[in-house]
Amino acid sequence: MSYLKLVVGTCSCGTKPPDIQYHDPECKYRLASELIEKVEKYESLLHRIQLYSSVTMDRDKVGKLIRNIDRWSYAHRVGNGELSEEEQDEVIRKAFDKLLDVD
Ligand SMILES: [Zn+2]
Repeated sequence: MSYLKLVVGTCSCGTKPPDIQYHDPECKYRLASELIEKVEKYESLLHRIQLYSSVTMDRDKVGKLIRNIDRWSYAHRVGNGELSEEEQDEVIRKAFDKLLDVD
């Protein structure tokens, strides 16, 4: 299922390029695009857990996905409040980007 139709015409900052990095952080198009990216990643993660646990029976890969989830969750707390918001976001982003890695 494609959620892209949710973002058509939603730009609230007046930016033309579709790449979200050019839109204001609070632009509705950018916020919706970021949410769609998250939903798609989480759905892929859930499907892969099902694939490795019930189809290919690859417990090692299931374990790696669970470890990725653990790292992503911990990324929200790492730094013990001493990181700037931007630094914390970068740590979370890196963990998010690795959620599906099993190699
Ligand atoms: Zn915009």
